[in-house]
Amino acid sequence: MTRGKFGFFCNYGLGLREEEERAVNEALSGRVVHYCLEQLLTEYAGKKDALISLSDEALSRFARQSVQKFKEEEFFGDFGAAERFSYQLGQLSALAARAAVRLRDEMKFSGFTPLSPEKTVEFRFGGITVKGICDRLEISQQNGKNYLRVIDYKRGKNTVDLADVYRGEDLQMLLYLFGLCEEYGAEPSSVLYRPIGADSFGKGNALSRESDAKKQKQANERKHAAGGIMLEESPERAEVAELNENYAKLYGTVRGGYCAPKLLSREGFSSLKEYCKAYVNALAMETGGGMVSACPSENACRFCDYGLFCGKS
Ligand code: SF4
Repeated sequence: MTRGKFGFFCNYGLGLREEEERAVNEALSGRVVHYCLEQLLTEYAGKKDALISLSDEALSRFARQSVQKFKEEEFFGDFGAAERFSYQLGQLSALAARAAVRLRDEMKFSGFTPLSPEKTVEFRFGGITVKGICDRLEISQQNGKNYLRVIDYKRGKNTVDLADVYRGEDLQMLLYLFGLCEEYGAEPSSVLYRPIGADSFGKGNALSRESDAKKQKQANERKHAAGGIMLEESPERAEVAELNENYAKLYGTVRGGYCAPKLLSREGFSSLKEYCKAYVNALAMETGGGMVSACPSENACRFCDYGLFCGKS
């Protein structure tokens, strides 16, 4: 419920939707990149070795084909579209290709295997049914245990502030992690937020941009680095250290590393889980009872379309 109770009510209670504008903007670029990564993970499901051996050129080709497919599915190809829109949409394959290259490189250093991209999840958590779609759910078997991690592609920030969680924001991925761990009998490893579409869109091509000066590459990789929350004792911690070392060799050293999730002890994770349970139960009762007043906050309002109705804008 990232938009808060009032946004939730507008969306699911009243069914209010904004008409989609045919324009290449930040939202569309995020969706295109998202779609391409989903296609890639679906095509290579269970074939991790094949995925990590793909060349930059092969990924670039894959991205172009995915964008074409997206255009057919979402906009009926070129039907009724201005030439400029079609051209700009095609240009987004550069962003998708860069995201695909990042995904491949990240997988090279990872012992985690994707369970399925865009997994529809439905589980009971603390007395209520949670439903949603998880961008990436991954599992790793280490030291005789199964560890789960949830990866979310984000247009906004890639960090988690526990104060936001306390206010009920950024709960969604944590709910998925805790609920799915119960379902799979696994240990929670991490919730990672991976920024997508943080590049400017519509400029250059994937490979020429990637061959830019080292500084620009470094800034780009930092901007796209994953953040989030990780279990202190998780074996994933060693992977992150290796990834940071390898990135430092490729792009230079940066303060704090490229991927720097917050570490939380096992006790911290358990408290967080209990808090999430209590919070969603209280929220479900309030919302079910019609208490859906607007609660503006920077995070919740940023990508919310209902500001006109609640009086925020
Ligand atoms: S704009 Fe903010 S306060 Fe208004 S409905 Fe959306 S999230 Fe709630």
